[in-house]
Amino acid sequence: MKIAILTIGDELLNGDLADTNTIAISRQLIENALPVREASTIGDSAVDIAAALRRLAESHDAVIATGGLGPTEDDRTAKAAAMAFERSYSLNDKALLQIRARFQEWQREMHPRNEKQAMLPGRSTVIANNIGTAPGFHLQHKQADLYFLPGVPREMLTMLNEYVVPSLLQRFPDPPMRCQRTLGVFGLPEPTVESRINRNVLPEGVELAFNVEFPVVQVKLRSKGEDAQRLVDRAELAARKALGHYVFGIDNDTLAGSTARLLSTAGLTISLAESCTGGLIAQLLTDQPGASAFLERSIVSYANSAKTDCLKVEQDILDRYGAVSPECAEAMANGVRSAARTDISLAVTGIAGPDGGTADKPVGTVYLAMISPQGKRVERFNFSGNREQVRLRTACTALDWLRRQAMAQLSGGILENEA
Ligand code: ATP
Ligand code: MG
Repeated sequence: MKIAILTIGDELLNGDLADTNTIAISRQLIENALPVREASTIGDSAVDIAAALRRLAESHDAVIATGGLGPTEDDRTAKAAAMAFERSYSLNDKALLQIRARFQEWQREMHPRNEKQAMLPGRSTVIANNIGTAPGFHLQHKQADLYFLPGVPREMLTMLNEYVVPSLLQRFPDPPMRCQRTLGVFGLPEPTVESRINRNVLPEGVELAFNVEFPVVQVKLRSKGEDAQRLVDRAELAARKALGHYVFGIDNDTLAGSTARLLSTAGLTISLAESCTGGLIAQLLTDQPGASAFLERSIVSYANSAKTDCLKVEQDILDRYGAVSPECAEAMANGVRSAARTDISLAVTGIAGPDGGTADKPVGTVYLAMISPQGKRVERFNFSGNREQVRLRTACTALDWLRRQAMAQLSGGILENEA
């Protein structure tokens, strides 16, 4: 079974737009044990699109194309497909009805231009688009099934899952079993993660790979064949044993998502005081639906005046130790806690750079302070990297403290700092 992806659009070639559709499609297909063999990108020229389609259809069993189904003149995919496979290019009644229905549902007037989206190659099956206007279509040429989906990622993905994947699984009912699992690890550098996992303890037939999605290290476990699932389950257990609580989740879990889930489950409320992260911790947490269950407030206290005003940090602390100090971090955490009265309060203050560093507090010096029912914890970090990296690492470290605190609470135990 040979599957190809073709993404279409000038903007993908001139640097205006990153092609996320290819990744999204390959991910979805591999989860269904349908590996992609080739992916190409082509501009908006109908002649080029037609040539690419012909070439891919010759050498593949299935081609999934995205983009260029819109109402504007530069959307030429349907016409190109008609050219490539010598079909008519004509108004498809079923497609037109679907587009009209969509506008009716939105209670919007349909622009005459949208009729163009119902112009499809002859002998194609319409793929319904339940969230946008452009219908997709499916046609067969010799041995190849060709699927055409809109470029808009959300529409593309919905139609992929609702139509293309089931259609491919019908054609290739017993794809060779494959299983992949990704463990998300935070707080250990990649080489340490690698050296902790002893390849000898992994079951035979499991492939091990590492990837960094800053600041998270990903451990990938893959296997093929009848036993794939069982082998990967066993490998996951071994890897978890080696990495302990540095593993925050699997597959699509994010550090913020896992932290949010644990805080909610533990029924803990939190408040934040952020200096060098400028609200990033709160942003990462409020990206998670349901964050209001645990996040009471985050105060972005950037200037000293904000620290004294909003957090009641004493001027004396700022004068004696400076804003980037363990004393100030602790005072910030105490300040937000007395106003918010949450179970946990966490504060960060540091020097993200590129300026502002000194000999004893270079760029990357960050203090975290957390006050919880278990007591206080204040630590200094020396993060490396540019401004963005220092801020992200600081925010993720804060999330990790909260995550571990929630875990400790759930296990009824003491806060574990290690593993
Ligand atoms: P529309 O009806 O919106 O015009 P379309 O099928 O014609 O849809 P395009 O015009 O190619 O699709 O793209 C629409 C939008 O979808 C683009 O502006 C872009 O934001 C997004 N898009 C297109 N192709 C990709 C891709 N490969 N990866 C990520 N986003 C994409
Ligand atoms: Mg378009």
